[in-house]
Amino acid sequence: MASVSGAQVIAESLKAQNIEYMFGIVGIPVTEIAIAAQAVGIKYVGMRNEQAACYAASAVGYLTGRPGVCLVVSGPGFLHALGGMANATVNCWPLIVIGGSSDRNQETMGAFQEFPQAVRTSIYGRPGSCYIDIPGDFVTLQVNKSSVKYVECCLPPPISTAESSAVSRAASVIALSKQPLLIIGKGAAYSHAENNIRKLVDLCGLPFLPTPMAKGVVPDNHPNCVAAARSTALQHADVIILLGARLNWILHFGLPPRFRKDVKVIQIDICSEELGNNVRPAATLLGDINAVTGQLLEEFSKRSLKYPSNSEWWKRLRETMLNNEERSKGLALQKSLPMNYYTVFHHIRELIPKDCILVSEGANTMDIGRTMLPNYYPRQRLDAGTFGTMGVGLGFAIAAAMVAKDRTPEKRVICIEGDSAFGFSGMEVETICRYNLPVLIIIINNNGIYTGLGADAWKEMLKFGEPATCVPPVSLLPNSHYEEIMSAFGGKGYFVKTPEELQNALKASLTDKQTPSLINVMIDPQSDRKKQEFPWLTRSNL
Ligand code: ADP
Ligand code: MG
Repeated sequence: MASVSGAQVIAESLKAQNIEYMFGIVGIPVTEIAIAAQAVGIKYVGMRNEQAACYAASAVGYLTGRPGVCLVVSGPGFLHALGGMANATVNCWPLIVIGGSSDRNQETMGAFQEFPQAVRTSIYGRPGSCYIDIPGDFVTLQVNKSSVKYVECCLPPPISTAESSAVSRAASVIALSKQPLLIIGKGAAYSHAENNIRKLVDLCGLPFLPTPMAKGVVPDNHPNCVAAARSTALQHADVIILLGARLNWILHFGLPPRFRKDVKVIQIDICSEELGNNVRPAATLLGDINAVTGQLLEEFSKRSLKYPSNSEWWKRLRETMLNNEERSKGLALQKSLPMNYYTVFHHIRELIPKDCILVSEGANTMDIGRTMLPNYYPRQRLDAGTFGTMGVGLGFAIAAAMVAKDRTPEKRVICIEGDSAFGFSGMEVETICRYNLPVLIIIINNNGIYTGLGADAWKEMLKFGEPATCVPPVSLLPNSHYEEIMSAFGGKGYFVKTPEELQNALKASLTDKQTPSLINVMIDPQSDRKKQEFPWLTRSNL
């Protein structure tokens, strides 16, 4: 009688659920699961920290709509993965974490039957993370092959539409609006609603604003994108159509002073608990964004709803956009050294391909980069997200590169990191080199968190005492050669200080489509902040 091991059963049942990618760190008792997964054709990526592995698995869920698996050992392995699970849950991204625990005689029982349920739970309704606990002795246990029955692959999530009365109420509210604004969130990106939303924008002539990860659902260079007038648009809109975005901190809770007190919100979301959060909505459309946008399109064409492009509102938005664009252009063209953020992003924007996948994290690096680097395609921007998690960058970049390799090999993954953000999972550079993923990492290095010290100021400061008592908590070591981490593993590293060096390094790493590379860009440690004279001297603890 042929037999199979628990590990093989686990791998086969994951395969039966169309799981394509697994990220993790092996150890007792899960090593056999990773080996079995590879044997059935699941791509296993061994990472250097469970947290980064979990971020990677969750990004696969967002990019493909099918959960990625994160495989960890029990105890500390599982604890490291918690950061990724929390991040996925808050982002509403599907994820399955599998942890190997102790043997059953030392613990409570778990069951294989939990697999299909976990897949379904992760992708149905509002997506999120699931955890499966595998008793250690299940992994090596041999069972009769013919006695194992795999549950069929769970169906894609059912698609729900909104009540028709809510659709017509929404249309009536929009028809009466003088200053409407469409806000597109990452729920719209996740639900692949780009074609319908694009049609809605074109048909109705509405100004729109993407949230950070929704950039590219409708291209940033679309004439109706008012991102360059974000504050004005939010502050003065009288009707807001919220497509898969939450009224959380990213959208200033939908409350004054960033919004009008009397703003009418039309909320479209798949999660009913989300409806009415912070603001009492004028209409709630509970359903799948793509389907509901289809319903709105139908209703709008019935009523021939078109917002006039010569309205006062459009005039005001266009003027604000022009002014704001001029201002950042001024900063970008500054010639002084060390460079500032705007100069660096200006050169990056000039040279990177239009269809690249952008991963970004860090404080100023992410915020300024978001406004300076356009996205033209949906689901091609991954960042610190709803939870504001730093350390996601390298895991996300690895996931995006793995998915791109299989689906869109021509697309380059470019990961733009603050120096502090890079530090959270810098060792994943080894993973990138081991799997030969042509990721380009750009570190915008200001020697610190938010702001740092230059080498001279650092030396001055050390005269005041021991580092533990005088190094500002925001400071990191100046002039750190992070690019050497990349060259240590066979990739290409560049240390750049001038626009010319930056351009050359970018050109070289973009031309070489095979080799992973890292460009460490030194910028003014005080960039984007008013110059402060030795701020640590005013601290009371010194
Ligand atoms: P952003 O960060 O872009 O503001 P959020 O993560 O806050 O976006 O919001 C995304 C919203 O999209 C969540 O409330 C989630 O429930 C919702 N969502 C996810 N998938 C779908 C879908 N298929 N249809 C409708 N809403 C969805
Ligand atoms: Mg920094």
